[in-house]
Amino acid sequence: MAKSFLSLATLGVQQLRPYLPGKPVEELERELGITGSIKLASNENPLGPSDKAVEAIRKYSHSVNFYPDGGGFKLSARLAEKFNVDRACVTLGNGSNDILELAARAFLTPETSAVFSEYSFAVYPIVVQAVGAQANVAKAFSLDHATMPLGHNPESLLASVDENTRVIFIANPNNPTGTWLPPQVLKQLLNDLPDDVVVVLDMAYNEYMDESLQIDASEWLAKFPNLIITGTFSKIYALAGLRIGYSLSSPEIADVLNRVRQPFNTNLLAQEAALASLDDKEHIKSSVAINDQGKAFLQKSFDDMGLDYLPTMGNFIAVNLRRDGQVIYDALLQKGVIVRPVGNYNMPEFLRITIGTEEQNKRFIKTLSEIIA
Ligand SMILES: *Cc1c(COP(=O)(O)O)cnc(C)c1O
Repeated sequence: MAKSFLSLATLGVQQLRPYLPGKPVEELERELGITGSIKLASNENPLGPSDKAVEAIRKYSHSVNFYPDGGGFKLSARLAEKFNVDRACVTLGNGSNDILELAARAFLTPETSAVFSEYSFAVYPIVVQAVGAQANVAKAFSLDHATMPLGHNPESLLASVDENTRVIFIANPNNPTGTWLPPQVLKQLLNDLPDDVVVVLDMAYNEYMDESLQIDASEWLAKFPNLIITGTFSKIYALAGLRIGYSLSSPEIADVLNRVRQPFNTNLLAQEAALASLDDKEHIKSSVAINDQGKAFLQKSFDDMGLDYLPTMGNFIAVNLRRDGQVIYDALLQKGVIVRPVGNYNMPEFLRITIGTEEQNKRFIKTLSEIIA
């Protein structure tokens, strides 16, 4: 009898537990027999994409018989200008997830290790496991930490690096916690890390952070040739469905990533929509504003309800229900409010709520209050 194909797969793949994405709204509504539900589960921008992006998608929809620009010239040039770096520093990805995977494939083998924190983004263990590398999981701050409960602990990240470590993943701010490392702490960590360890600084929520916490990419890249900063158009730019992200790194690292990426990894509509989005400053401003207001409203509501939550610089909040989060998640779901349970992150008593529109936030709080009353 033939062996199972799973047993024929590489060891890393055999032990892989795939990412569990949130279900699309349509599918859930069909399953539950409900309509009019709201999705606050995947940190998508509730305002929808920029009109400029939609216009670009319309305009270029007639050109999809052509392959996209494999080098993504226009978009990388625009990103280079925005961040004041050389165009050779920019790599485009099919979502920033693509870049995380390129980094793992380029630098990791079963003989090497990668470091990331507990409670950090679920994609890191997956890309590390897929190539069979060892995951050194750093202890995060405890739940009773004074300022950054469950946040990345720079000391334990550093201590988790061993002689085989090639890559460290740091999400700033982190998903699902929302916690962050201030620039001076991050810089110290980069100074302390061996300079042959590639540091992937995942800044998917960068645009939502207080400006005082945002870093000067150009200055940091000049100082740290081992740094890869990743960014995405999925979050504030509201193009998650198009899959487009990027990284900024030294030209040498960009060359390495370029060797492992597919020739046409980013699609034509995504490139054009991303380009148009970068020009829509108003859309970004309104997105930040609605997020700030929603965050204040949710935090106040949680305070009133006596619920703890983690500090956040993202467009989401992790709230501590002090009871089985999955049960509350299911109850919310029945009432058409879709949020994210985070038991798979070892946070079984939390739920992660994407900050929505005023109306969505109110509906969520009202429904949650009814459930836990
Ligand atoms: C959402 C998210 C991303 C973005 O993923 P894309 O592939 O760009 O859609 C990356 N990192 C973190 C931490 C995220 O939460």
